Amino acid sequence: MKLQGKVALITGASRGIGRGIAEVFADEGADVAINYIASGQAAEEVAAYVRCKGRRAMTVKADVASRAEVEAMIDKVWNELGPIDVLVNNAGIETIVPFLELTDEQWTRLTDVNLRGEWLCSQVYCRRAVAEKRPGCIVNIGSVQAGAYLPGRTHYAPAKLGLEALTRNVSVEMAPHGIRVNCIHPGLIDTDMVAWVMKRPDLLPGVLAKISLGRAGQPREVGTVAAFLASDEASYVTGQTLYVDGGWAGK
Ligand code: NAP
Repeated sequence: MKLQGKVALITGASRGIGRGIAEVFADEGADVAINYIASGQAAEEVAAYVRCKGRRAMTVKADVASRAEVEAMIDKVWNELGPIDVLVNNAGIETIVPFLELTDEQWTRLTDVNLRGEWLCSQVYCRRAVAEKRPGCIVNIGSVQAGAYLPGRTHYAPAKLGLEALTRNVSVEMAPHGIRVNCIHPGLIDTDMVAWVMKRPDLLPGVLAKISLGRAGQPREVGTVAAFLASDEASYVTGQTLYVDGGWAGK
């Protein structure tokens, strides 16, 4: 039980990778707050899984791109489950739009959720943890696309690469406060976000050919790595980015 007795807040945990992380965290003994923006019913199902493992769970609706909603979320979790030991910044969106067609609104919304949201959740969490002199930990979920050469990602890829830089720089300032900060860059993970490629027999073999292990990953395979980074076993690991991508060539 790597996370016995720890309280974790996972953003975007109603589905996909966040759900996989929430399940592994519960298996490892953590109490889990499940953030979502639209899928309340799905979030309740994740909470039911956590509770059936004998751990406490709560669901919390918030847009990670809104400071007011993030502040209310951190307060709610802190008050209901107790001080947060682990924040997982997982919530994210992906759109694929050619560079010449990308609008200001598309750029702003994607970078607001995928980069500013992580900065915001991290800052609100760290302010409270530092004020209460509590050590802690952040795990950011980036993407292998941070370093990939792909069309249509001139907003997504910079946001994910920015998250890697955010990880390093927040880790430096938070280390004296006992807060570790790390990042995971997942590769192709079988979730709703990539259903458009998983369901395309004409596209999928070409994508899998770039992955050494020759298959997509499962959300829990990101969850087990996040659990390690969040655990005391990773007590000397901070400011790092770990690829969980089955060996993705061309990054
Ligand atoms: P997903 O299946 O589409 O799930 C996205 C999750 O984020 C959902 O729980 C969604 O909540 C939540 N969310 C979206 N916008 C939000 C917002 N503004 N505030 C709060 N929550 C929000 O995606 P996924 O594949 O699990 O991706 C999770 C993370 O991994 C993302 O950061 C993504 O960029 C990254 N990633 C994914 C892959 C992949 O192959 N799947 C690869 C690399 C990186 P609702 O259910 O309420 O909508």
